Amino acid sequence: MTRLYNFCAGPAALPTAVLERAQQEILSYQGKGLSVMEMSHRSKDFVAIAEQAEQDLRDLMNIPDNYKVLFMQGGASSQFTMLPMNMLRGKTAADYINTGDWSKKAIAEAKRYCDVNVAATMEGNNFTSVPTQSELNLNADAAYVHYTPNETIRGVEFDYVPETNGVPLIADYSSSILSEEIDISKYGIVYAGAQKNIGPAGLCIVIVREDLLGQALPETPSMFNYQIFADNGSMYNTPPTYSWYLAGLVFQWLKEQGGVNAIAEINQRKASKLYDFIDSNDFYSNPVDKAYRSTMNVPFILKNADLDKQFLAESEAAGLLNLAGHRSVGGMRASIYNAVPEAAVDALIAFMDKFAQVNK
Ligand code: PMP
Repeated sequence: MTRLYNFCAGPAALPTAVLERAQQEILSYQGKGLSVMEMSHRSKDFVAIAEQAEQDLRDLMNIPDNYKVLFMQGGASSQFTMLPMNMLRGKTAADYINTGDWSKKAIAEAKRYCDVNVAATMEGNNFTSVPTQSELNLNADAAYVHYTPNETIRGVEFDYVPETNGVPLIADYSSSILSEEIDISKYGIVYAGAQKNIGPAGLCIVIVREDLLGQALPETPSMFNYQIFADNGSMYNTPPTYSWYLAGLVFQWLKEQGGVNAIAEINQRKASKLYDFIDSNDFYSNPVDKAYRSTMNVPFILKNADLDKQFLAESEAAGLLNLAGHRSVGGMRASIYNAVPEAAVDALIAFMDKFAQVNK
């Protein structure tokens, strides 16, 4: 079976080796006579899978012992609601940095629960950069500061971790978790939907500092309460067991690749090549400030938008899938997560080069 190069922003490419392993085990997990999908989440075998996945993630990300790792559901979007419910801790205001579409969604949900102070917004420059530390208008009395280290749609990425002077920092790492090293100790919470660098959709990983737990708003539903998830090993209800298992296989694969630093080096190379190519001609362009271009999501536009449809049809025919930009912004976007091999980027550049020659 041929596997083509998939540049989808999410659900995104998974490592072929992971899918092959899942295929081998799909009917009978390690000779047990049943699929992981058919196991009780409380069975010895599944609990071992779940614990191993957590341990591998802790190893990969160097997660300190005073952080809980929660395997939740509802995607990153549900976190937009869970964060204020769990993290206000008696306060009434929170700071949000607005660097794009996902920041805005997080802000909109938080406004239902607290006063949102937008500490900086990049809307004025059409989200083509991020604010500097000195541009952040932080409120010392905020319950937390929320930001989006990598904005998936417009491809804008922070090159620094905001300093919040003791106020817990919360980061939506959905599209860049595991792509490079993160110093977890700088954060109150790091969270990420799974369907980019972690595994299939259906899981959301929440890494939370223990001392922040236990102060959820009284009306918080049990399924949205971090403390309840922490107390129950993320098995308060039936978790998405197969997604959890596949995430575990992805973590093992990443360890085999040499871990986060090793993949980060490849990621840098992939992104640099593609941006260098885009910058090297006037047929393609990317509007983002060079200092803040995303390593994972590379949006670009063609000089002549009338060629967009043709570009997408021909790239697909050439085995380069899912290059359309997000429906809200149009243009093109190549998402080049961990599981997208460097050869995919080389093939994309070769295609783009040829397309530009023929159509200029
Ligand atoms: N945050 C970011 C940065 C994202 O890229 C996405 C999805 N692309 C979300 C949040 C929403 O994730 P979900 O669809 O899992 O709710």
